[in-house]
Amino acid sequence: KDFRNSVKPNWCPGCGDFSVQASIQRAAANVGLEPNDLAVISGIGCSGRISGYIKSYGFHGIHGRVLPIAQGVKMANRDLTVIASGGDGDGFAIGMGHTVHAIRRNIDVTYIVMDNQIYGLTKGQTSPRSAEGFKTKSTPEGSVESAIGVMELALTAGATFVAQSFSSDLKELTAIIQKGIEHKGFSLINVFSPCVTYNKVNTYDWFKEHLTSLDTIEGYDPSNRMMAMQTLMENDGLVKGIIYQNTVKPSYQDLAHGYSKDALSKADLKMDEEKFNGLLAEFM
Ligand code: SF4
Repeated sequence: KDFRNSVKPNWCPGCGDFSVQASIQRAAANVGLEPNDLAVISGIGCSGRISGYIKSYGFHGIHGRVLPIAQGVKMANRDLTVIASGGDGDGFAIGMGHTVHAIRRNIDVTYIVMDNQIYGLTKGQTSPRSAEGFKTKSTPEGSVESAIGVMELALTAGATFVAQSFSSDLKELTAIIQKGIEHKGFSLINVFSPCVTYNKVNTYDWFKEHLTSLDTIEGYDPSNRMMAMQTLMENDGLVKGIIYQNTVKPSYQDLAHGYSKDALSKADLKMDEEKFNGLLAEFM
């Protein structure tokens, strides 16, 4: 199974997004998907280009709207594996409302955020993930706002799969994406994906120095939500690994009344005239 296509990415050399692309391709192959089993839906930003670089169904959406599109695709064809992807600005600023509601809805979509703490495509402005004091063209004296703790927020919103990884760790990232795809429900995977061109603070070396792997925390239990929250708060959110997973809560598709158990895209939607007119009359 080969998820490579002939399109050459035009990310800057060294951009963290290359690893995310490779990890998605490897994870999809590892779980036994074929390119026509997968839909990659992306938002706007450098990371948004990813849907064009993977051999699968793809849709490059509009800014902040990756999740409404991805959820619509999953609703129409539950047989597809749906991966949504975008940047921290796309998902945690303009798209934050959708992110929170997709989390609590628990629809079976894997959302991968390429988090570089800056707006790269527009040449380097402060994002909702930039730390307090972060200097950019939009905040020359340093940002006075604090960064959103997205992992903590996901936990309080009722997330059933919350994970974090780092572009430099391809093996771990692939394994986490694989687990996210296999998870029956919404999975949020935040990937620290350095912008080598505009973010000179949060570099590969910076993350290597500051990230704590959950594997190194003795007795860490990803099914324990309280432990997950406490660990995030103690480490200022800078942990990597599967932070929390709830394998018991059913997904949206399994709960929603009237939701077809079969792919809507394959249902016979033909209707005779009498039935159609009857339906129409109900709305008149
Ligand atoms: Fe990657 Fe930054 Fe270049 Fe965009 S500007 S492609 S995020 S390195």
